Amino acid sequence: MLRRLLLYLSAAGWARRIATHWGLARRVALRFVAGETLDDAVEAARKLNQQGLLVTLNYLGESITRAEDTEAVVATYLALIEQIHTQHLRASVSVKPTHLGLDIGEDLCRDNLRQILLAAKSCGIPVTIDMEGSPHTDRTLRLYRTLRDEDDFSNVGTVIQAYLRRSEADMQQLAAEGSFIRLCKGAYLEPPDIAFPDKVEVDANYVRLVELYLTGSDHAYLCLATHDERMIQAVQKLIRQYTISPERYEFQMLLGVRSDRQAELAAAGEKMRIYVPYGEAWYPYFVRRLAERPANVWFFLRMLVGR
Ligand SMILES: Cc1cc2nc3c(=O)[nH]c(=O)nc-3n(C[C@H](O)[C@H](O)[C@H](O)COP(=O)(O)OP(=O)(O)OC[C@H]3O[C@@H](n4cnc5c(N)ncnc54)[C@H](O)[C@@H]3O)c2cc1C
Repeated sequence: MLRRLLLYLSAAGWARRIATHWGLARRVALRFVAGETLDDAVEAARKLNQQGLLVTLNYLGESITRAEDTEAVVATYLALIEQIHTQHLRASVSVKPTHLGLDIGEDLCRDNLRQILLAAKSCGIPVTIDMEGSPHTDRTLRLYRTLRDEDDFSNVGTVIQAYLRRSEADMQQLAAEGSFIRLCKGAYLEPPDIAFPDKVEVDANYVRLVELYLTGSDHAYLCLATHDERMIQAVQKLIRQYTISPERYEFQMLLGVRSDRQAELAAAGEKMRIYVPYGEAWYPYFVRRLAERPANVWFFLRMLVGR
């Protein structure tokens, strides 16, 4: 119930307008975001690199409705890529398709992605196209495949969500194509005919998809994006069982979530990448993080009443 309410609020314009003018909400959100500026993001990435952690940087924003607004987003990503390169950060980039105009048109989004991928490719930086709600799934996968195959970008990857019923077929196909995929559980409000409603089913599907993908091809790459200890243990077991090379996978977690475990996995020799978002449009990202863990809501409420 609480998760569904929060996911509804994450997409509600009226709630965003109230929260973004609220200093306390901004302070709490900073647990999950690096800050509002590019300098904040670079600084956070540098610190994580110093701890032996890889990074993927995301400029916060989504659901853009005016084509001209996407120009500034592209320019920001180009500046970010330049900083990653000149500051020698061990960082990739993650982008949301609707931040680059997918809701306006697929061609616009593809042109914008091309500019970002070209700059990133010249610096050897990978770019992952994040996955948003299910109305965007087909178009996002089409963009990924077009950029990979027609535009020949070897530095592009995308995301599959284990809560979607369609994901088994997608993962099978993507493995055969030798894709670069991040597998997460999924963070949006979806109806039960499209997504498994129960956590137990989502978790079982996550493990099934990992096995299917890692055994479905010997050249596909998998980013295991989860904080769930049971998923981590199950994945490590599969990796041992099938003797999967460390060149074929990495773990990923979000900034501010299970930081101790992030360090522990890196110290144990796992490739561990932290998703580091920054920018002023933190509201929907923050509320999706609250929805993932009720304890975060109580933490927020405790701060609210000053205890
Ligand atoms: C690197 C990365 C990239 C992602 N990209 C996408 C994307 O492109 N599209 C998309 O739909 N989703 C994305 N997600 C979000 C993802 O879909 C899940 O919503 C999120 O990761 C929570 O799922 P979980 O696997 O951690 O397991 P859950 O079952 O949600 O959580 C398991 C345990 O992990 C801990 N935990 C999980 N979340 C939190 C939190 N917010 N705060 C504190 N503790 C927490 C708790 O201990 C919890 O009990 C991404 C996640 C990561 C890590």
